Amino acid sequence: MQIIHTISDFKNARRRISGTVGFVPTMGYLHEGHLSLARRAKADNDVAVASIFVNPTQFGRNEDFSKYPRDLARDVALLEREGTDIVFAPEASDMYPEGFATYIDIEGPLTTRLEGAVRPGHFKGVATVVAKLFNIVQPTRAYFGQKDAQQVLVIQKLVSDLNGNLDVVVMPTVREPDGLAMSSRNVYLSPQQREAALVLSKALRLAERLYGEGERDAECIRAAMRRLIEAELLARIDYVSVADCSDLAELDVVDRPALVSLAVRIGATRLIDNTPLEVLQ
Ligand code: AMP
Repeated sequence: MQIIHTISDFKNARRRISGTVGFVPTMGYLHEGHLSLARRAKADNDVAVASIFVNPTQFGRNEDFSKYPRDLARDVALLEREGTDIVFAPEASDMYPEGFATYIDIEGPLTTRLEGAVRPGHFKGVATVVAKLFNIVQPTRAYFGQKDAQQVLVIQKLVSDLNGNLDVVVMPTVREPDGLAMSSRNVYLSPQQREAALVLSKALRLAERLYGEGERDAECIRAAMRRLIEAELLARIDYVSVADCSDLAELDVVDRPALVSLAVRIGATRLIDNTPLEVLQ
């Protein structure tokens, strides 16, 4: 496995690659969710590339950029086990040199609702860094997790609007045995908070159960989820949403493919999770 730290070294290495390239962009501190993407990238392609870059432009001023967990040596060892061929871990000063001035700002509901409403500028940072990474890595396929469902919609829009020459592959959310979605941010949780964090997946299972039992009133589903979360004293809701998958508009009636999603603060840690609702009659 090669570890490359500069954009110019990566471009030189890229020129020597023939065949398909599978790409997994990450912010590091890897867990089984990331590794499931790396495994699939390796299985589907001649060469598998993973990037590790905690992207400053997607963090708000009061967010956790400086304390975001980092452990490059551990990440590299985990990726090596998955057969990843190249790890690209650039410096922020190389990605955003002095005078950097070009950002990608996707207009409309996909970037202004839900995460976009709570984290203004977040998706501008995400779209910009992903577009840069796509230009550098030139992947045949790029792998993203359903865990960040709105991010997937934003990336799909980016690729379609800018005519990207790659396939976006979406992989299922990997969970801990008790249901908590894996996240690099889970390390922030104390044992008591870790227990409280189960309300996210419990609220999603409740939504699935209600929907499975025939409930189609979206507000009833949202209200039941909110009640469950509010009963957990350590939890504070940012949003609970049952929305149209195509534009993330809140639904009155669940009569089309929907995304149930939520963002909840457990102490100072902000967690997100989601589940799609298939169309049942
Ligand atoms: P991050 O390092 O948090 O930016 O995540 C990098 C990629 O891994 C993104 O495409 C995420 O959606 C994906 N990912 C993060 N957590 C999970 C998970 N629990 N299951 C599947 N994919 C995940």
